[in-house]
Amino acid sequence: MNSADQKMIVISAPSGAGKTTIVKHLLKKFPQLGFSVSATSRTMRDGEENGREYYFMSSELFRDMVRQGKLLEWQEVYPDSFYGTQVSEVDRITSTGQFPVFDVDVVGGLNIKKMYKERALAIFIKPPSYEVLEARLRSRGTESEENLLKRLNKVKWELTFENNFDVVIVNNTLHEAFSEAEKLVADFLNLNL
Ligand code: 5GP
Repeated sequence: MNSADQKMIVISAPSGAGKTTIVKHLLKKFPQLGFSVSATSRTMRDGEENGREYYFMSSELFRDMVRQGKLLEWQEVYPDSFYGTQVSEVDRITSTGQFPVFDVDVVGGLNIKKMYKERALAIFIKPPSYEVLEARLRSRGTESEENLLKRLNKVKWELTFENNFDVVIVNNTLHEAFSEAEKLVADFLNLNL
């Protein structure tokens, strides 16, 4: 397939909505999907591997890539934490015939949707409530209290963007969210469930 015609899946959500779990599930379910590994300047967490979850780099290197026009989109998702999608990453995935899957923040997701229009299915994952999301983020235990508060401050604002997405999945139970996401992706990409 010509990469210019290739469809893609964009998944965005406030952090803690369960987005990454859903993305991982979809990647396991459909080998036709390829995860777009973003570049980031945030520090690596326990269990993460360079080149698997992210390409980890310094802020200086990240800024160089921005200047050199190597990023399709990028955001300072949290103060001093930059995240961006490299053009080369999309090329890498489409050249294998896979459909790229982007796990990006809400603004990044809408930017990718604007670029690719009907070629992209933009999915917004919504937590059942703000309180549930706060509890999930706390129980994850991956963040310092300071970072946690930064993230929570952003959540309410991010929730206002849901109507700009093609579809919204409310993550009540993972089981339901998985099957809803599978159906949406299979329909959009004409894949067998
Ligand atoms: P985390 O630090 O929890 O891995 O990710 C924080 C947020 O950054 C998540 O919402 C994640 O989807 C988003 N993110 C990851 N990669 C990118 C990217 O390439 N571009 C944008 N705009 N956001 C990203």
